Amino acid sequence: MIPFLDLKAINQQHRQALIDAATRVIDSGWYVLGQEGKAFEQEFAAYCGTRHCVGMANGLDALVLTLRAWKELGKLKEGDEVIVPANTYIASVLAITENRLKPVLVEPDARTYNLCPQKVRQAITPKTKAIVAVHLYGQLVPMKAIMDLADEHKLLVLEDSAQAHGATVDGKRAGNWGHASGFSFYPGKNLGALGDAGAMTTNDAELAQTVRALGNYGSHRKYENHYQGLNSRLDEMQAALLRVKLQHLDADTLVRQQIAVAYAQGITNPLVTLPITPSSTVASLQNHVFHLFVVRVKNRPAFQAHLKAAGIDTLIHYPIPPHQQEAYRDYQHLSLPLTETIHQEVVSLPMGPTISGEQVQDIIKACNSYTV
Ligand SMILES: *Cc1c(COP(=O)(O)O)cnc(C)c1O
Repeated sequence: MIPFLDLKAINQQHRQALIDAATRVIDSGWYVLGQEGKAFEQEFAAYCGTRHCVGMANGLDALVLTLRAWKELGKLKEGDEVIVPANTYIASVLAITENRLKPVLVEPDARTYNLCPQKVRQAITPKTKAIVAVHLYGQLVPMKAIMDLADEHKLLVLEDSAQAHGATVDGKRAGNWGHASGFSFYPGKNLGALGDAGAMTTNDAELAQTVRALGNYGSHRKYENHYQGLNSRLDEMQAALLRVKLQHLDADTLVRQQIAVAYAQGITNPLVTLPITPSSTVASLQNHVFHLFVVRVKNRPAFQAHLKAAGIDTLIHYPIPPHQQEAYRDYQHLSLPLTETIHQEVVSLPMGPTISGEQVQDIIKACNSYTV
């Protein structure tokens, strides 16, 4: 069986370095808000090219607390409209509603599944105050156009970079395009901890400081509380493990891009719609770090069964769009036909830094032998 993602194999590659890092933390006697967290924040900020990084307990908190910080700083208020792609993972929308802001779900670009600047422009009203730009599946949103639009309408831009660590356009990485960005280091993400972890990045010192306080009981200084905060911090153990994993991120990304190119060139079955990629060479793929390689098929259950019979695991990202979830029953009246079609047709092929060339060929063969 070719697994969808072999987390055990991924972490086995760095087994001794991870054990050494964990041992360092165990022996330090210091487990929360210490040297490892500080070092990871500096290293990850340097990686993204941002001035600040604040470690958080997970990616959802990074998004929630950044929006919350903008409320505390007087830049957002309850009821403000926030534009978000309708086909995103639900966490992007949860971060908005958790802050009692109003998500405005917009249809994506039909070819890239990412935010489309024209459709964003059409969704802007006098109440619009922010955009959550989700780099879905690992591909950067056309951020230059989004930032121009944001400048024109004085909107805040929060990147959701949970799937796009290292994705780059014009030498600028995910996390350094918007006014702030949330990252997840959930184990299955491109940069994965061995548990839950997350971070926000920004070039705005006041914002970074506010987010840090909000994740620390609302406190800048011990026993002095400025905000009604909560507890969301990156612990020393995950930070130490992430420092090991960060050193291998670019090499892992290159493998993902090579697999994507092999899939894009090898899968020739007209029943399987490939993701749009700017070109077929790795060098020109820097804007896409292929967290997922997502194809579309009309009869998805049959396609998945065909691959399963060939020993290949697939997953769906995602089966139900946010506006059709029970949690958002107030939004069920919305008609978002493109998003709904995408959710009915997408299938994610195995993708990760430990898939072998032979396995890639087997997957390509199985995709090409699929018939209706
Ligand atoms: C994973 C993910 C999140 C949430 O991150 P967690 O660390 O799981 O809380 C948010 N947005 C997107 C697009 C994600 O893929």
